[in-house]
Amino acid sequence: MSITTSQDQSAPAKPQKPPLKPVNKGDLPVLPTTYHRYRRGIQFACFLIFVALPFFNIMRFDIPRERFYFAGYELWINEFAIIFFALLFLLYVIVAASMLYGRVYCGYMCPQMIFSEASLSLEERLKKFINKKLIKINPKKRQMIVRGAFYLLTAVASVFLAFVFISYFVEPRDLLSRLLSLDIRTTGGISGAATTLFVFLDFAFVRQHFCTTVCPYGYLQGMFGDKNTLIVQYRDPGNDCIECKKCVRVCHMGIDIRVSPYQMECIHCGECVDACVDVLARFGKEGLIHYAWGEQGKLLTDKKVPWHHRLGLRDAKRVAVLLILLFYASGLTVALSMRNNVLVKIMPVRSSLYRIGDDGRIYNRFRMTIANRQARDAEVMLSLKDLPGASIDLQLPLKLKPAETIQQEFDIAVPAATLPQGVNHFSFISRVSPDNDSENFEMTFITPTERKTR
Ligand code: SF4
Ligand code: SF4
Repeated sequence: MSITTSQDQSAPAKPQKPPLKPVNKGDLPVLPTTYHRYRRGIQFACFLIFVALPFFNIMRFDIPRERFYFAGYELWINEFAIIFFALLFLLYVIVAASMLYGRVYCGYMCPQMIFSEASLSLEERLKKFINKKLIKINPKKRQMIVRGAFYLLTAVASVFLAFVFISYFVEPRDLLSRLLSLDIRTTGGISGAATTLFVFLDFAFVRQHFCTTVCPYGYLQGMFGDKNTLIVQYRDPGNDCIECKKCVRVCHMGIDIRVSPYQMECIHCGECVDACVDVLARFGKEGLIHYAWGEQGKLLTDKKVPWHHRLGLRDAKRVAVLLILLFYASGLTVALSMRNNVLVKIMPVRSSLYRIGDDGRIYNRFRMTIANRQARDAEVMLSLKDLPGASIDLQLPLKLKPAETIQQEFDIAVPAATLPQGVNHFSFISRVSPDNDSENFEMTFITPTERKTR
């Protein structure tokens, strides 16, 4: 699929056509639910999700504490494999969605687009409100008041959005205390102030230009899509376009979809679809702009196509992508469910094989690491199997606070002559509460091959 830009195309010349006649208002067809309304609903839900993700630790990279929160799990940075697997899964979801549904993420879910459109709408509403309320004031002053009010409200919104954004990387309560103390001296405070400024400039001035200049996703779209990907397309077999240009006026990306369905600026938002349906319904005609499965493919609204085609599963490649996605998701779920909330590791310390104590008993040394990778207290109990008469020289159970790590060396003591000489195999059994997890660690206990007397 080749992507074009609106600048390098010009609208094709239209042949002459008979004029369309307007229909009576009472005869106007009832319009279907508009994509505009769908978008507003989805965008609002996405906004709530964007705010909720870091606050409920559903997805958050806590840089100071070196933790990655994902789907309710608190992953430690040393669990790199599972973090990498989770991030790769998210990337794969975006690529698969782009392949099936084109730039639906840009048009319906991207925070940059949501806030850019909110900023445009705020400016428009302020203009209308102030022009109506301050009709007697000179227009130049009114314009200044509109600008001032817009910048003020955008600045307040920027503080909130920057706060949410940084919460993805810093604990929100810690961040709030920095914000309330107006900290602009520490690294955290300075990055917070810089992010707020960046967000303000973005939503006050840059807005959708970000999508066509900075964001790489639009450029990559050409690589993901193919002849079956969902696109927004102008089809006019009956030569019905009345050249009203409403589709161009409503387009926030400033393009004319009639030029080509593959313009890089098009975010597949569907606003032009609604605009054309609205205009041509007044002449008793159907809209000329549609969501379609590829340039030659069926329309999204075509009810005759089988259900799996309507969901986007239009060829073997797409079915394979879906299966890989499901396989990936199951693997990730299994990996997360097999992960222990409390990590217990026991290793022998072999700087000396054994030690004979003043009490005549034989000692072997071990090192234990316990990490409580959850948000509640934990207790770890240790016991021995297949080591008769042995005792653990350690105060048990070990108690750990949330996120606490303990590293401790301890001895196992066995009365002399209880065990055969040489290497004796035994196991440690760890029991974690309240999780009720238990683990077996196979070890060896070494006794002198020739008994020494003290
Ligand atoms: S051309 Fe239509 S679908 Fe594309 S960005 Fe503009 S309004 Fe949205
Ligand atoms: S809104 Fe429809 S009728 Fe009007 S210019 Fe666009 S395609 Fe033509």
